[in-house]
Amino acid sequence: MCDRRGEKSVVRIALLGAPGAGKGTQANAMQERWGLAHVASGDLLRDNVKNDTELGRKAKPYMEAGELVPDDLILDMMEERLARPDAQAGFVLDGFPRTLAQAEALDARLEAKGQQLDAVINLVVSEEEILRRLSGRLICPQCHAVYQAETMPPKQPGICDRCGAKLVQRSDESPEVVRKRLQVYEEQTAPLVDYYRKKGILHEVDGAIGVERVLEKIAAILEEAAKQVGGRGSE
Ligand code: AMP
Repeated sequence: MCDRRGEKSVVRIALLGAPGAGKGTQANAMQERWGLAHVASGDLLRDNVKNDTELGRKAKPYMEAGELVPDDLILDMMEERLARPDAQAGFVLDGFPRTLAQAEALDARLEAKGQQLDAVINLVVSEEEILRRLSGRLICPQCHAVYQAETMPPKQPGICDRCGAKLVQRSDESPEVVRKRLQVYEEQTAPLVDYYRKKGILHEVDGAIGVERVLEKIAAILEEAAKQVGGRGSE
């Protein structure tokens, strides 16, 4: 990510928003456009479940019930992920942090390295729209692209545009589990909006204005964040 002077700035962003708000879609676009590492805790967990790792076996029952996986498991997983080389050039977090304890642990981890989150973007979408989107959502188990049967269908039915893999429905998107996930979001994750607002890094974006327009709003926020990072000096 470059600032206006064309200098390279490392920006660290987190996306907040209910399931189905568009975090994955926007984070994928941000990765493509600005080269930020897309770090999605849900994708990492689903990969662990698919590969039947110890973490996957522990996380699976929580995921299938629409509940949050315990913080200690998530924090170990994220510690390892954020230490990988691609994340050193900046990242966009998708689905993490999801609890106050995770947010505080992330702050402490970044602070210990003289780093910080530069912006937190809350994608705001009504519950009615969320339910509509989730009912037709398809994901690519290979490259993690996200589709929506009505509004964002793949070019060829059931096939990923990006990598050609067969698309699947998520196992946690039955109506009961979706209801549980929305409840968990309200109770445990929505309080993070205030947490980041108090820190002065929260930006709210209407998530219902279309993928391209949301990305343009995000671009303006990133440009501002990159300028500030540039002003603090390169890391
Ligand atoms: P997502 O793909 O972000 O909707 O996540 C799918 C599921 O993975 C969630 O319903 C949780 O069970 C689990 N999960 C993902 N990220 C986290 C997190 N940061 N903390 C706890 N559980 C998580």
